Amino acid sequence: MIGAIEVEPIKEAARLIKFADFAIALTGAGISVESGIPAFRGKNGLWARYDPSEYAHIEAFLRHPAKIWQMLRELDGILSKAQPNPAHKVLAEMEREGYLKGIITQNVDNLHQKAGSQKVCEFHGNAFRMSCLNCDRLYKREEVDLNQTVPRCTCGGAFKAGYSLFW
Ligand SMILES: [Zn+2]
Repeated sequence: MIGAIEVEPIKEAARLIKFADFAIALTGAGISVESGIPAFRGKNGLWARYDPSEYAHIEAFLRHPAKIWQMLRELDGILSKAQPNPAHKVLAEMEREGYLKGIITQNVDNLHQKAGSQKVCEFHGNAFRMSCLNCDRLYKREEVDLNQTVPRCTCGGAFKAGYSLFW
């Protein structure tokens, strides 16, 4: 034990990773809490104030884009300030040193990339990428004026944040 930390399971995990043929990391909200991003489902999370059945569906977005963008702007304010913490950094270092082949994450916060990870598979997309629901063109977060009630593409279509390569 070091303080409250049990050392043996950590040594065992390190041994398994060192001798694995193909190690990847699966990450979720927990890894980013220390970076100041409350878990969506946690006590201070967005879903405590915004009902996901009302906000987390494309149908809801299409019906009430201004309402959904209000929540997305709040999320953007949190995510834009967040910085990678030691857990993100050590995973990036493990990839650089060849111990890790990549990361599969549920997170949309871009912190693995900010930490230097190259191979990141974002299961729920990335909040820093926008897609136009009309023409499907992709934009980076910094190319979009989020101060508009509903940020729109040059074609007039509404932007959706969190573009995912999977859906
Ligand atoms: Zn467009």
